[in-house]
Amino acid sequence: MQSIDSLNRIHTTWIARLVEEFALSEGVRESFAGELQRFFDFLAESLRNANPAALNQILLDWSRSLTQSDFNDRGETLVSICNQLFLSTYKIAENELSDTDALALIRALLPVQSQVILFAGELEKQRIIEQITTDLDKVRNEMSRLDKSKSDFISVAAHELKTPLTLIEGYGAMLRELLQSFDANINIAQVLEGMDQGARRLRQIINDMIDVSLIDNDLLTLNFQPVWVGRMINIVKTEYEPAIRDRGQILEIHQFDGSDEWIFADPDRILQAIRNLLSNAVKYTPDGGKIIVGGRKLPGFLEITIADTGIGIDPDDQLRIFEKFNRIGDSTRHSSGKIKFKGGGPGLGLPITKGIIEAHGGTLWVESTGYDEVEYPGSIFHVLLPMHKEPPDTTFAKLFRPLIEMDKKQTDK
Ligand code: ADP
Repeated sequence: MQSIDSLNRIHTTWIARLVEEFALSEGVRESFAGELQRFFDFLAESLRNANPAALNQILLDWSRSLTQSDFNDRGETLVSICNQLFLSTYKIAENELSDTDALALIRALLPVQSQVILFAGELEKQRIIEQITTDLDKVRNEMSRLDKSKSDFISVAAHELKTPLTLIEGYGAMLRELLQSFDANINIAQVLEGMDQGARRLRQIINDMIDVSLIDNDLLTLNFQPVWVGRMINIVKTEYEPAIRDRGQILEIHQFDGSDEWIFADPDRILQAIRNLLSNAVKYTPDGGKIIVGGRKLPGFLEITIADTGIGIDPDDQLRIFEKFNRIGDSTRHSSGKIKFKGGGPGLGLPITKGIIEAHGGTLWVESTGYDEVEYPGSIFHVLLPMHKEPPDTTFAKLFRPLIEMDKKQTDK
């Protein structure tokens, strides 16, 4: 057949030109040349048998692999690729063959092209439907995740908010009684302290819920300032000393390289993160246990570690504890103070801490051989903070320029 002869005559130029035209990245060029060869062979076969269906298999393969290829990144579809292949074939035929041969070849190829485009269009349609179905599944999963989160929120709210409210109501009622009867045996200061405690706890839970929703919606804004991590640790140490004494625990603070250097971070949020981790170490370590805060300087990062000799965490739970409202173990356990052994809480401390550290560009993870209330294997929480020497915000950078310049001079020396 004359058209097959003509097609074979342009074979070498056809492969070389199309590899060039599609200008793919180095790694995929070779396999693309192989695919072009396959297309060419099927094209010749479809001319030989006068049956364009010979190309269906390769189109099917291409449609499956298109999503992971360079073509997809460039927004090309199977239809546009096929069209380009045929148009280039016509151009090459025009240049390489005599007018009569080129015309005969183009005439023979035109019906093949229209069949191919129809089939490619059909495949494209199916691919889009599959894509939409997958996207819909993702949305459905996300919605059921949100639904679960919502019901977790309701159960935590029911549990956690009721306790301090009961405190306030109880002491309020006592106060009313007291004022009516002027009972000198009841200590007003104690009653007010009880109400105050309830209100503080309520505020804390509400603040945590606000923080968690800020983090969830990427709305946590950081106030970058020079921060000395060592100083932050010492502030939290002073806050927790009375509690640690009450529990008969030992708190060791190990100074480490880098803890006395300043980095740009949000001091309030860093304090909050360290406070949460130390408060958990106190809560989940038995009376008489030990807590060690230390760290080290790594290239570009500062690592803070908070280690305890507490109940430890099962490896299966070591990711779950960073999800909100996820309280491990006794699920009925609820807030019974910030320092009481296994005191529990709404299960927001670690998600918030993780959110704060990640907002700084860092990471937070835990290391523990497992959960054991006999052997007390303990846990080590690791905080990796980038040592930002410039604040991300240019306004802050201007404000702290002299400090940054001074530090540069010192490191250059
Ligand atoms: P909670 O308010 O329950 O303390 P967190 O988010 O701070 O919430 O912690 C989530 C869970 O992780 C806790 O309920 C506890 O089971 C576990 N956990 C956190 N810190 C420790 C620790 N240092 N040792 C053992 N378990 C811990």
